[in-house]
Amino acid sequence: MNIHEYQAKQVLKGFGVPVAEGVAITSADEAEAAARQLPGPLWVVKSQIHAGGRGKGRFKELGPDAKGGVRLAFSIEDVVKHAREMLGATLVTAQTGEAGKQVNRLYIEDGADIARELYLSILVDRTHGKVAFVVSTEGGMDIEQVAHDTPERIRTVVIDPVAGVTDADVATLSDALKLEGAAREDAKTLFPALHKAFVEKDMSMLEVNPLIVMENGRMRVLDAKVSFDGNALFRHKDIQALRDVTEEDPKEIEASKHDLAYIALDGTIGCMVNGAGLAMATLDIIKLYGAEPANFLDVGGGASKEKVTAAFRIITSDPNVEGILVNIFGGIMRCDIIAEGVVAAVREVGLKVPLVVRLEGTNVELGKQILRDSGLNVIPADDLADAAEKIVKAVKAA
Ligand code: GDP
Ligand code: MG
Repeated sequence: MNIHEYQAKQVLKGFGVPVAEGVAITSADEAEAAARQLPGPLWVVKSQIHAGGRGKGRFKELGPDAKGGVRLAFSIEDVVKHAREMLGATLVTAQTGEAGKQVNRLYIEDGADIARELYLSILVDRTHGKVAFVVSTEGGMDIEQVAHDTPERIRTVVIDPVAGVTDADVATLSDALKLEGAAREDAKTLFPALHKAFVEKDMSMLEVNPLIVMENGRMRVLDAKVSFDGNALFRHKDIQALRDVTEEDPKEIEASKHDLAYIALDGTIGCMVNGAGLAMATLDIIKLYGAEPANFLDVGGGASKEKVTAAFRIITSDPNVEGILVNIFGGIMRCDIIAEGVVAAVREVGLKVPLVVRLEGTNVELGKQILRDSGLNVIPADDLADAAEKIVKAVKAA
């Protein structure tokens, strides 16, 4: 689960991490009062969307000369002017895709005088099976680009889970970031605090880009992007409360209500599969036959008819879907349940696109019989390759 920058800063502040004062607003009428709560003379007006690259982003509704999604303001009037322009407009960044995201919330922040912009992230390093810091002196930039062009400027420091962030770790990170004086002192509490927040709140990623050294020599977290491990959310009611469903795909929200592992993709072939491995293989083979999948969907083992019906409804609600492939290898999952779910869903929402069904495993004959008896226009398939080939052909012919 992802949260907004202003929420992430609130969480980090609770761990003693230095962030700027700020006020979140959802209407331009609140802008002036928000700005007055901050000292000035510099304010920053920041779009709150679940995507990075806002500063370099552009607003669809505004001209090519309009400023991006993070703007400096030198007066309260400017704050209000920016707020009026930005709220409700659609921000397109390198991470949103061409459709962009509507800006429904702004964070008005006390501006900092920046001396240096650094990069810091914390993540789970799968190679080492431990939490690691990734830092670079090249902050404020696209870190993927830095990794590509100047990989020597990125330093990874793996943290021992028992010892935590040691003095030696802090020194290594501080050297890598060329920290001196007050900033180097700040780092002694900042790095352990960030690590504590990451571990205690079950984050899967914490990215601070940029982490800044201010003109006065002190450090501050200027931007914060945080995602949490969905499997650990049940033990963080405070974090769950930060969920902003308006930022999420409605199909994914619906799927999460039914406990379905569903991820929307850009293609045209809707997929209903059991087991994550088989689901991935299904996506691969659809691509192999020349089409693109519209989603990843693992209905899981032992799903009920209701769950299968919900899954099918979610797939058909995607306007990009031109064909559906059901690929089930029934072990714990029974083929007759899948067939009943598919039939029930089609009765409910109709079927306007070709449907290929490949069933194998427990109660397969019963499942096939249910589909035959239903009178639905189902294209049966014998194996995975056959199924993929048939659905791609059917979509291309339609
Ligand atoms: P992003 O574009 O979505 O990554 O948003 P950031 O929060 O990282 O802001 C983008 C850029 O705006 C930063 O890299 C800074 O250069 C600039 N910026 C943000 N806040 C401040 C501030 O308080 N003072 C100054 N001078 N620049 C800022
Ligand atoms: Mg940033």
